Amino acid sequence: MPLAILAPVTILDVPVHPVTNEDFLALVGQFIAEGNPRQICTANPEFVMTAQRQPEFMTVLQNADLVLADGVGLLWAARRLGRPLPERVTGSDGIYLLAKRAAREGWRLFLLGAQPGVAEKTARILQDRYSGLQVVGTYPGSPRDEDYPEIARRIAAARPHILLVAYGAPRQDLWIARHKDELGVPVSMGVGGAFDFVAGVQKRAPAWLIRLNLEWLWRLVTQPWRWKRQLDLPRFAWRVVRSGSKK
Ligand code: UDP
Repeated sequence: MPLAILAPVTILDVPVHPVTNEDFLALVGQFIAEGNPRQICTANPEFVMTAQRQPEFMTVLQNADLVLADGVGLLWAARRLGRPLPERVTGSDGIYLLAKRAAREGWRLFLLGAQPGVAEKTARILQDRYSGLQVVGTYPGSPRDEDYPEIARRIAAARPHILLVAYGAPRQDLWIARHKDELGVPVSMGVGGAFDFVAGVQKRAPAWLIRLNLEWLWRLVTQPWRWKRQLDLPRFAWRVVRSGSKK
């Protein structure tokens, strides 16, 4: 399934690719086979609203090789715009799917970011679950320039196929866009709080809440300092409704 045929759905100028979780894994395989550095973003309404305010982030999303709909708000918006997306493809579930496929295919993973110890614990949990999985490096680091040489050195030595970056959006995505060509890893993907969820540092919403499309509410209650960022959710809905009615 070549990516070229997957015309993205454009939501407030941000392209979102209409892919399933299975397509996502197939595309990762394709990117690894091709070997050129590619960037994958896990977008949600907060990404889209941040991109309205930060042109640099908008450019990163528009140039990314694959933008996944991680966030039910994007599915809602796409439906309203008449171009429905098939399903949510999240970083938090995606990390398990990716690890499982990586164990089977021999893809090497590097886990960058999160608080000290969290990426190591994530690696241990994933390797216990998917035997044969190669996690060839973990390192907290930070997106600051002074950390870059050490990060680059470790990644060059480990030669991963996939680099998962947990610095939170938009920093992780800006960081990947800036460094991916030099790092030369075939697939780099921003995964936000995914290591925190795997390692149990943060508790993911229960499945019934996710099914009810209320994961955002869970995050608001368990991480209340997000309330300011989450004001972007009603702003996003309003902008989508307005943009739809202008057509
Ligand atoms: N983080 C980090 N270095 C930084 C800033 C953040 O490693 O300089 C990590 C943080 O520990 C967490 C992840 O980035 O594991 C981002 O989590 P958050 O839930 O805020 O990301 P979001 O899902 O909102 O993008």
